[in-house]
Amino acid sequence: MDLFKKLVRSTDTVDDKWKSKYLLLLDDYDETKKNHQNEQVLLKKTLIRLVAATKGLDPHLDPYLARIRTHLKNELDIQKLWAVIEEFSDTVLQSDSPTPTKPHVTDATVLCDILHKLYPHQKEALSAIQSKYEGNGFRSTQDLMSAILGTLETTHSVELPYANDNVSNKENTHNTLTTEQIITPLSRLLNTLDIPPNFETRVQQLKKQLQSNPDIEPLKSIISDYIKLFLDIKQHVQLEHRNMATFLSNLTEQLSELGLKASGASHAAQVSSQKRTLLDESVSAQMSDLQQSSADATTLEPLKQLIKSRLMNIRTEIQEHAKNEELQRQETEKQLNDLTLKINLLDAESSELKTKLTAAYEKATRDTLTNLPNRLAYEEATHIEMARWQRYQTPLTMAIWDIDLFKIINDTHGHKAGDKTLIIIAQLLSKHCRKTDFVARFGGEEFIMLLPNTTEQSAATLTNKIRTVIEKTGFNAGGQHINITISCGLSEFRKGDTSGSVFERADQALYQSKANGRNQCIVAQ
Ligand code: GH3
Ligand code: MG
Ligand code: MG
Repeated sequence: MDLFKKLVRSTDTVDDKWKSKYLLLLDDYDETKKNHQNEQVLLKKTLIRLVAATKGLDPHLDPYLARIRTHLKNELDIQKLWAVIEEFSDTVLQSDSPTPTKPHVTDATVLCDILHKLYPHQKEALSAIQSKYEGNGFRSTQDLMSAILGTLETTHSVELPYANDNVSNKENTHNTLTTEQIITPLSRLLNTLDIPPNFETRVQQLKKQLQSNPDIEPLKSIISDYIKLFLDIKQHVQLEHRNMATFLSNLTEQLSELGLKASGASHAAQVSSQKRTLLDESVSAQMSDLQQSSADATTLEPLKQLIKSRLMNIRTEIQEHAKNEELQRQETEKQLNDLTLKINLLDAESSELKTKLTAAYEKATRDTLTNLPNRLAYEEATHIEMARWQRYQTPLTMAIWDIDLFKIINDTHGHKAGDKTLIIIAQLLSKHCRKTDFVARFGGEEFIMLLPNTTEQSAATLTNKIRTVIEKTGFNAGGQHINITISCGLSEFRKGDTSGSVFERADQALYQSKANGRNQCIVAQ
């Protein structure tokens, strides 16, 4: 029994120990659960606030935000919420690209609404801008603002579309906006715009004023300042554009001068002119690009950088062009020099040939002993004189001469004396006929004459005169005086004659002279 009691007592003690341990654990659990629930509530609240804050920032993210909000409103299912947050994170990462800032739909819509009221006379233009904007027609906020500024010229004092005092600022009634609905998009627009540096202070001031959650009256004045700021920016940009246009026009002028200089060296070459056209096209394309960029630009600095880089391009192209031109010019000059050398060489060769040919012709057509034209020359002369005779129908007479008994001279005084006699007679024949007459040694001691523009009677007079001169000329051979006579046969060219037929008649007449006793001139019958 004692043992039993002891056992029971002992069991009671163990039970109590476990019970108190269990109760402690229960308390611990309750505490942990409470903390956990508090954390969950805090997390939920944080998420809800985050979702509310980020809603409307990016249309791609909005559906995920809506789903997260639904999950948070219902019983929290960590697994599902986790999956949605994972998807959301992926989308955030994907959309994190450096594309130009696009104004949020709400931003521009609200701004357009305000501007519609402020500028009722610009309603059409503003509506067009709004439609273009809603159709995603603007590349950036900058473009959108440029378009809007283009329609605004003066400020007007008009009633702004704010909620009036009777209506709660938090409510959004038909055609009215709460101050918050105006402040938020206006602030966002200021953040996304590319503001010229000298307007930065004013922008910061406006931002501060907007952040101070102003009431309607101060907000009206802020909006006036806001619009004034945009108009001032517009004026500034217009001035910058005018300066830029003047600058670009001067630049174009200088570039065209440069272009002309680059091409001046070789406008003779067609290739060069084609290359010059390409250069001109490239330069004018870059210039029109610059003009477009200057029209789009609102600040001078990036434009300056762009112009600098374009000018570098143009300079490089012109230098490249000039270099090619120089190479081309050098190549052409070299070719020209080579060609000139070849021509000079050919010229020298040709004149040498000409000299040789003349010498050869001289040699071939001149008699070496008497230096008179020979029989070959006679044939050529006959050809020419007959052509002239046929063409001008002027008289032409042929005279054949033969030294009388020349064989005896040779035999008596020697062959050398005979040669000397031949030389002297040749000189006499040449000397006593006219410049236009032709005299040749026909062969041996025979000579032939062609007397243009001379009838046979005149020719007979002339030949008789020469014959008399020769008869009267004394020849000296080895100290001995020799008398020499010469006989002549003449014939005028007649219709239908050939050189052979005339020669035949003249030779016949010469034969008659010989037969009649020599030292006479006979005209052929
Ligand atoms: P004819 O009055 O009938 O004409 O008598 P000829 O002696 O003049 O005629 P022939 O035909 O019998 O003699 C011509 C001579 O002329 C023969 C020849 O030796 C000579 N003779 C021809 N050519 C030359 C030459 O180049 N030099 C010399 N020295 N004599 C020549
Ligand atoms: Mg003879
Ligand atoms: Mg003779």
